[in-house]
Amino acid sequence: MRKSLVPATLALALALALAPAAYAQPSPAEHALLHELAAQVSPERQHATIARLVGFGTRHTLSDTRSPTRGIGAARRWVAAEFAQMSRDCGGCLTVETPSEVFTGKRVPNPTEVMDVLAIQRGTTDPDRVIVISGHIDSRVTDPLNATSDAPGANDDGSGTAAVIEAARVLSKHRFPATLVFAVLSGEEQGLYGGRVLANYATKHAWRVEADLNNDIVGNSEGINGVRETTRVRVFSEGTKTVETSAEADRRRYNGGEVDSPSRQLARFMDGLANGYLGNFKVAMVYRTDRFARGGDQVEMLKAGFPSVRVTEANENYNRQHQDLRTENGVRYGDVLEGVDFAYLANVTRLNVVALAALASAPAPPTHVEISGAVSADATVKWAPAADTARYRLWWRSTTDPQWRYSRLAPPSGKAVLKDVNIDDWFFGVSAIGADGWESPVVFPGGPGSWTHEEPPPAAAAPGTPGSTP
Ligand SMILES: [Zn+2]
Repeated sequence: MRKSLVPATLALALALALAPAAYAQPSPAEHALLHELAAQVSPERQHATIARLVGFGTRHTLSDTRSPTRGIGAARRWVAAEFAQMSRDCGGCLTVETPSEVFTGKRVPNPTEVMDVLAIQRGTTDPDRVIVISGHIDSRVTDPLNATSDAPGANDDGSGTAAVIEAARVLSKHRFPATLVFAVLSGEEQGLYGGRVLANYATKHAWRVEADLNNDIVGNSEGINGVRETTRVRVFSEGTKTVETSAEADRRRYNGGEVDSPSRQLARFMDGLANGYLGNFKVAMVYRTDRFARGGDQVEMLKAGFPSVRVTEANENYNRQHQDLRTENGVRYGDVLEGVDFAYLANVTRLNVVALAALASAPAPPTHVEISGAVSADATVKWAPAADTARYRLWWRSTTDPQWRYSRLAPPSGKAVLKDVNIDDWFFGVSAIGADGWESPVVFPGGPGSWTHEEPPPAAAAPGTPGSTP
């Protein structure tokens, strides 16, 4: 047999160089802005924010709304004033809105106004595209109806509220093509009412909400098991869309898509950004809508058809959640300021800040993504070309991979053929890349993956109003 003229090591190097690029999102384009923004997040400012929130005594949804110093009314007014001050510092770039609705329910015995505080930073070129960060300002102790005892809520969810406020402070110094919404919600502990107020407000204003990053319990690093987890944060995402129609579910059961909702792609997008911009701080994706049998405001956004994730610390301490302040057998209970690790909270906030900036800078996720290629050696991917997109990237991964693995650039024609990539064996997706290199999350084909503001094809139309819960 004739010996190869190419040394084995060179052959290997050539093979590697010619192999498809393998990376999780984001694209190899590195954006200096994201490093800069991450560096501006200040643990000291977040400490001051949570100390101020704790100072209102209780922020229970049913607590006093008229006192200037105690209760949820004073706390909400303080947040609105903070946003207003930031807006003065950025030439009026933020609009402060306080949508509210009156609810009665199991944990709201008398009709009660639940009010959110929103700061809206209008997008420069596509203001109806909306990227949201949320946290809830209301707090509680052991009895969910106790509206008078001290309920510091430093971590649940003073930490999420501080993430929202700090993100607003950092991001309001810049302008983005899409709109950013900084949302401080109420009523979470009484039944996710503030999430519903936000979802209803977004629907009423025809916002195309591309993401809600809901931060709830993001500042404690010492778990109830005594283990400190300072280098990871969990990102929970639903696998299939809450608003999936039964026809979509039938096709999805056959062709796949159980782990590829838009919310899941947001989690993958954040995972990639952490790898690229946050050093040793990582995303632990959890393939669930929330912690087991627990809930958060993102659930109400998902019901309205808006892609949303829940961001929560890696290792929770249940002695510091929903507890009367007390000491029992030497164990201190209560959600106090000392339970917050501000270096950790700052890292979680950095993850949010880079994700918000990346999403608001990128083109919209591609629409009308379809794949075909049964009984063929090649896969064909189609999508609807968009004016703000310079090119696209096709992604594929093994059906058992958690993260997108292989990719190839595609022109903005709306169609590309992946030679010798058999449709049976891979999951596919498409991302959109702007002229300046910003890249959207990946969109999985068909109903399971479509971003919800997309018009479904007539065949997939479901009875009832688009976006409503089936
Ligand atoms: Zn909470």
